[in-house]
Amino acid sequence: MSEISHSSNKSALTYFIADLHLAQNRPDITACFLSFLENEAPKAQALYILGDLFEYWVGDDDDSTFIVEISQALKKLSTLSCKIYFIHGNRDFLLGKRFAKQSGMELLPEITLIDLYNKPVVIMHGDTLCTRDVGYQAFRKKSRSWWWQTMIKSLPLFVRRKIANNYRNQSATATAMKSQDIMDVTESEVIHCLEQHQSQILIHGHTHRPAVHEIKANGEEAQRIVLGDWYEQGAWLKVTPDSMELLDSPFE
Ligand code: MN
Repeated sequence: MSEISHSSNKSALTYFIADLHLAQNRPDITACFLSFLENEAPKAQALYILGDLFEYWVGDDDDSTFIVEISQALKKLSTLSCKIYFIHGNRDFLLGKRFAKQSGMELLPEITLIDLYNKPVVIMHGDTLCTRDVGYQAFRKKSRSWWWQTMIKSLPLFVRRKIANNYRNQSATATAMKSQDIMDVTESEVIHCLEQHQSQILIHGHTHRPAVHEIKANGEEAQRIVLGDWYEQGAWLKVTPDSMELLDSPFE
């Protein structure tokens, strides 16, 4: 658990994004993100990236020009007094300290409680809430283990790229076969999480179903805010001390 405080000074604006799934073969998404970093994000005090910034991550030693360009754009934003926080998604969970540092991002624990304009808010990627996806949860457990990560990281870069490609193809097939119900969050898991952290607001991504859900937790009104993905447009949550708004922006 880490606690981050945002006082209501400066521009008093915070952005949350997730599920960009940046990939070399989707220059339209990359262009939209670079434009967001250049034009929108500098207005904010903080940008929270809640996982799956990248479609896949083979290691911090990946020096492809595509990765370097994104890293430099993030770094530039961080120097414009916009703090960047990153929580791993299920695609980019191998993203490490080295890349985070060179991109001016601070890595956060997978479930983090933040103080957002005097409200305790829980933030996460959201994959841990999908408990009915048993196959995925088993893979998640294995892939977060020390032995698995050590083994993967010891492989040459070209082998890791190959594995990532194979995994993506398998994952696409598996996702197409799973029912919509299994792919969404387990409601009781959401309530449990909010009660555990004594919070009334949860922000997450992963399900690609942008919405503000009015729910009950801790015996009171609560909200589960789901961030949109960037497959067809840019998407972000804009938070000020008085408002929370899910916004999107078409690709150019
Ligand atoms: Mn995800």
